[in-house]
Parts: sequence; C-alpha cells; structure tokens
Amino acid sequence: MNAAFNHILIAVDLTEDAHHVADKACALRSAFSSQLSCTHVIEPLSLAYGGDVPMDLSTIQDQLQETARIQLDEFAERLNIPVEQRHLVFGRPETEIHGLAEEINADLIVVGSHGRHGLALLLGSTANGVLQGSPCDVLAVRVGE
Ligand code: AMP
Repeated sequence: MNAAFNHILIAVDLTEDAHHVADKACALRSAFSSQLSCTHVIEPLSLAYGGDVPMDLSTIQDQLQETARIQLDEFAERLNIPVEQRHLVFGRPETEIHGLAEEINADLIVVGSHGRHGLALLLGSTANGVLQGSPCDVLAVRVGE
C-alpha cells in the first residue's frame, strides 16, 4: 500500500481560517511532493432560501460568484496552484467536495475544523460532513482558536 499522498485537495471557505488550513496542506505537499488542488463551493441562494424570497436572486448570485472567483484565484496564486487545479463549484459543500475528490483522483482532502462540541456538533459541520462517506482520507485542521 502506498503511504504517500499524491494528490491533495484543499477545501476552503475563503475566510481567514483558510490560510491556516493552507499551511498544513502545503507542508504535506512538500513532504510528499504531491499535487495540490483547491476548491470553494458556492451554495446556490435558491438552495438556502428555496422559494421563500419573492425576488430574482440571479444578480446577487452572479456577484457572489464573481467575488468568490477573485478570492479563490488570490488564494491559489499564493499557493502556486495552477489555474486548472482551482475549482469553483456550486452545490452543497460536502457533496461537491466528495464528487470533486473522486473526479480528480485526490487521495487526501484537507478541511478546517472548529472543534465544535455539544449541540453544535450534533447539528453538524462541514468538516463532519466531509469526513462521512469520503472517498479518501480526510485531514481536519483545527482552526479558529
Ligand atoms: P465549517 O464547518 O463551515 O466551519 O467549515 C469547516 C471547513 O470546511 C472550512 O475550514 C473549509 O475547509 C470547509 N468548508 C466550509 N465551507 C466550505 C465551502 N463553501 N467550500 C469549500 N470548503 C468549505
């Protein structure tokens, strides 16, 4: 069994935490000479609000996408991640991250984890969601402390 990580996928929420998660992913990339890809998932407003908002959300959605694209590019530039390995996708983060990991043949997903407990843990987090049913190993980096 190959103990190295050949292709690491870092999932970023584009907050300050992402830099801390990136540091760990980069350390692993150096250790294993891995490929590094990154993704940010945009949750469609229609998914979050359904039909509850009586207005056309497409303009706001376009602006969110544009802002996310710029931020993901800035993030990826700093990490020297090539353009074709930057993935801005739409949907539910857990589902999309799993799908992308399979598609690009990633063998490690790196996410941040706020180390929630109690009710917050029961309600779930993205890190827990990614861990459950992941097609490959998952590293949850503690953030927000
Ligand atoms: P959360 O549970 O929302 O606090 O997020 C924990 C971690 O999940 C973040 O540090 C990211 O690694 C990942 N994550 C959360 N939201 C997203 C997103 N929209 N796209 C990609 N990764 C995300």
